[in-house]
Amino acid sequence: MIRIAELKLPLSAVPYHPDNHTEYAPQEALSQLAAQRLGLQPAAIAQLQVHKRSFDARKSELLAVYIVDVTLAEPALEAVLLQRFAADSHVNPTPDMAWHPVGQAPADMQDRPVVVGFGPCGIFAALVLAQMGFKPIVLERGKTVRQRTKDTWGLWRKRRLTPESNVQFGEGGAGTFSDGKLYSQIKDPRHLGRKVMQEFVTYGAPPEILFTAHPHIGTFKLVKVVEGIREEIVRLGGEIRFEQKVTDVLVEGDARQLVGLQVLDQASGERYTLPTRHAVMALGHSSRDTFAMFYERGVAMEAKPFSVGFRIEHPQSVIDRARWGKDAGHPLLGAADYKLVHHAKNGRAVYSFCMCPGGTVVAATSEPERVVTNGMSQYSRAERNANAGMVCAINPEDYPQDAESFAWAFGGKTYGVEAQAPGAFHPLSGIVLQRQLESKAYLLGGQNYSAPGQLVGDFVAGTPSTAFGHVEPSYKPGITLGDLHQALPAYAIEAMREALPAFGKKIRGYDMRDAILTGVETRTSSPVKIGRGADFQSDNTRGLYPAGEGASYAGGILSAGVDGIKVGEAVACAILGLPVPS
Ligand code: FAD
Repeated sequence: MIRIAELKLPLSAVPYHPDNHTEYAPQEALSQLAAQRLGLQPAAIAQLQVHKRSFDARKSELLAVYIVDVTLAEPALEAVLLQRFAADSHVNPTPDMAWHPVGQAPADMQDRPVVVGFGPCGIFAALVLAQMGFKPIVLERGKTVRQRTKDTWGLWRKRRLTPESNVQFGEGGAGTFSDGKLYSQIKDPRHLGRKVMQEFVTYGAPPEILFTAHPHIGTFKLVKVVEGIREEIVRLGGEIRFEQKVTDVLVEGDARQLVGLQVLDQASGERYTLPTRHAVMALGHSSRDTFAMFYERGVAMEAKPFSVGFRIEHPQSVIDRARWGKDAGHPLLGAADYKLVHHAKNGRAVYSFCMCPGGTVVAATSEPERVVTNGMSQYSRAERNANAGMVCAINPEDYPQDAESFAWAFGGKTYGVEAQAPGAFHPLSGIVLQRQLESKAYLLGGQNYSAPGQLVGDFVAGTPSTAFGHVEPSYKPGITLGDLHQALPAYAIEAMREALPAFGKKIRGYDMRDAILTGVETRTSSPVKIGRGADFQSDNTRGLYPAGEGASYAGGILSAGVDGIKVGEAVACAILGLPVPS
């Protein structure tokens, strides 16, 4: 097959179902364009499949831009054409995008691999291991997705947090109650992202995610997909144990070989040891107790940069108009998203994060008496407001490095920070800052899980807010209006005050007075990096495979899934004595 990029059609040429707005490929128009591009008659194209479709709104007429794969009626012509267009970056052979297992588990396999965490990274590590016959055991500290949904609503509706079952912890991982955006900017030469998307479609995601440029599936569809993949892992001989928290790692010898995991059964309160020499640690960014345990056990790790800020909410119509112009409201375009960045005079970068068109701001803490914001949406993206994190990049130099702050953050433990060399950054210091900011937000919100908020106009002017304007906030259980200047370090506030009017120049209305800021956004990525080598095993602990967002090898659902596949393959290769695919 030949892959041809940059085939453009006006929006009006894209057919869709009038009732449910399902999009179809304009086969005839695309075949004509493809044939023209290759210098052929349309009849020479035997088959055409859309690989990707994006929209380009930069010109006066909004265009649908396609990448297509074509099969020629005369197969022998393919090689001739590929040679003729060798210098044309838009005409290439269609790559093999299928996933090929690295091997099969031996029939007499003794040591079943363990996967800790059942977020996207753990899910895909377990799925590929199961597909290769390794019958993984999955340990997940949270509950099944249905039970977890009830617990999560408990915080949103009744101000009741369940620390082991919430937006961060439980089946499906952190992105289960999310916008379900499924794109990423990672390099993916082996097309593993395609495997993630194909599995999602197999288990109930809409097929269009395979060809739209910025696919998303929303919260409820994601819940069904996660359940479907769980059933498949079990069907293949895997085992998924919920409410099982890993509380310790057992290592032996100079090589620090992993030999087992200590597990707390949270339902019964019993503790047990699970022997294993291969454990994928797909913990997510919020498993702070497990990071602290790793530190105590000497697992190689370091503090890393992340970002802190607020959620910002605008009427979705403001964003749609700015992005789509006269085409705003067209059923195929849906609710518009955006991506913004501003480099402030004080050297800080402020950028939009995890933008959720037509969605809601959610309470995302996993710890009592702390407030954290994030965003989610349904597949329809039909809520009245657009929301996004508006965050400021920070780095280990900004994190507290004193014993008093550590003792406050870790219930009296200081993890040796008082003895560290001057100028060093303690691996757990980012967590200290996160906890300080989240506790402050809880206080400012009124100590009942309401979040502190402020109108954008007041924030820029430096005056506290006392009443909402035209924008109705979506955060549940509620917002306490006031002054957000106390909620973040001064450098972040300064950079954000500068960024808002600058963003208003890029998206008209972005700095509107009534837009709402809600705080605080602190779980943007992991505060630690847990290093690993080319074999995907910890820098200093054999058999421990740090993976996904918590270890800083992913940022988002798709990249976490891709990392899960790579780490699942690495475990299989280690057991089979094969080289890890590059
Ligand atoms: P996680 O998904 O965090 O999963 C880790 C799992 O490990 C958790 O289930 C946890 O309970 C479990 N665990 C942790 N410690 C232990 C232990 N000691 N023992 C046993 N189990 C343990 N990304 C996108 O790409 N698109 C979006 O639209 C999007 N929206 C988001 C919305 C929200 C509200 C949130 C919170 C995140 C969102 N994200 C989104 C980010 C995305 O969810 C994460 O990047 C992704 O889930 C990371 O996957 P992971 O598997 O590495 O970790």
